[in-house]
Amino acid sequence: MSKIRELVIAGGKIHCARCQAMSKRTKLQCSAPAERGKRVCRFHGARSTGPKTEASRLLVVRGKVKLGDETRQARAERSNKFAELAQIEDALHVLGLTDAPRTRGPKPRNYRPIKSMQDVIQFVVGQLARPCSAVSELQEEITRKTS
Ligand SMILES: [Zn+2]
Repeated sequence: MSKIRELVIAGGKIHCARCQAMSKRTKLQCSAPAERGKRVCRFHGARSTGPKTEASRLLVVRGKVKLGDETRQARAERSNKFAELAQIEDALHVLGLTDAPRTRGPKPRNYRPIKSMQDVIQFVVGQLARPCSAVSELQEEITRKTS
């Protein structure tokens, strides 16, 4: 569903931008005109001047970094690991190493199905080419201790 960009008021005499915000209550697009040079109306934050204090600025930053109990980075890492796990499961089925039932439900975001032997080879080569996190952590620790 696309939003309506223009609003005609005063019996067709005034054409102006329409507020692009969605009402929390009705789930419909706000029907107020947007403030000059802004995309939303005064009720939906067009007159906001942003966080004033350093503490409130940090609150905004934290709100963008965290979602629920974990950071966005932690969520992305977990999703990537689940995608990897699903691909390993695919590979096991292609190689005929298991006849276990498939994991049900939606697949993770970065999941690419592995359907043929060629896909298995590409997946394994890709995994081998990736830097190992345990090795890089060890290297970091060694450089920290030696310096
Ligand atoms: Zn509005």
